[in-house]
Formats: sequence, C-alpha cells, structure tokens
Amino acid sequence: MSGDLDVDLAVRLLGGTPTHENRDPVLLRHWAVAATEFGRRMTPRAETVRVVERDGGLDAGLLARYRSRPPVVEVYTDTVERAERLVAERGWRHWFPEGSVRAAALAHEQAHAWLHHTAVRAEFKRALGHTALRFGRRRLYAYVAGADEVAAHAYAHAACGLGRSPLLLTEALAAAVSWESEN
Ligand SMILES: [Zn+2]
Repeated sequence: MSGDLDVDLAVRLLGGTPTHENRDPVLLRHWAVAATEFGRRMTPRAETVRVVERDGGLDAGLLARYRSRPPVVEVYTDTVERAERLVAERGWRHWFPEGSVRAAALAHEQAHAWLHHTAVRAEFKRALGHTALRFGRRRLYAYVAGADEVAAHAYAHAACGLGRSPLLLTEALAAAVSWESEN
C-alpha cells in the first residue's frame, strides 16, 4: 500500500516538472512506475566519491548534491538536521530510523552519479520507453525530465531499507521550509 502512495508522489513530482504539465496522467504514472522499478533494481558500483559536509543548505534549498568534476557529494548538515527533526515531529521514525536521512541522501546522490554513466543512461531511457523518433526498426529514446529524480529516490528507498520513499520526506521538508526547487 505504501508502495502505491510512493508512486503517487513520484507521479506528482513528474507532473510538476517543466514540459510535463499537460501530459496524460496515465503516461506519467507509467513513467513513475518504470523509473521506480529501475531505481529499485539499480546496483551502482561502489565508487570512491569524496563526501564533504557543508552548511547553508536550508537557505539554498539543498539536502545534498553531486558534482561530477571532480566527483564529490556535498551533504548539507543543517538540512539533514532539519529533516531528522521533521521525521520526529511527524511521527515517521518507524519509516526513517535515526541517521537514515544522511544515509538516504548519500544513496540518492550515488544513484545520480550512476545514472550519469552512458550505458546506464541508455538502459534507463529504454526502460522508460519514451520514443522521440522512429525510423525503420530503429527507435531513438528521449529523456524524461524528472525521471532521474524518481529513480534516485527509489534507489535510496531500497538501499537504505526505508519504510517509505525519501520522496515523502523531501516533499514535507520542501513544504516546511517553503523551498521552490527540489533535488
Ligand atoms: Zn536528486
């Protein structure tokens, strides 16, 4: 049941992503399910990516972010602390155990890094099946905006063994601190 609720959140994320405003909700749901399944099944290679802790995440609307050159994951400690407090306030501790916000943020960014690989990216596009062009028997798949985000949340959800998708927490956090962007 919570799986369905999490897919609803993923559909909402995609629906709120530019270029998808007027998409058929059935198509958005199809992409949300495909991206969730892809993310859940991903097995990112353990790469040694440096992790740095930063402050000022609440002002910037950031929990964590991945930068590719050089590869580094920035974790915003003030946002992590705020998210942990929010979990306690909402009574969601059984879904998000103590310390899981940081773990989920790291897994989420690891998923983004993995989705940067050309082969993984191509496989992901095929899984989503958004055809941009068709010529003869060949198809050219298009990028689905927001799908990486859904897959990264699904990976973190599965990898950290959380009761609900971290997307729930991200959404609640955004509302609590009135962020306008998500990542
Ligand atoms: Zn992200």
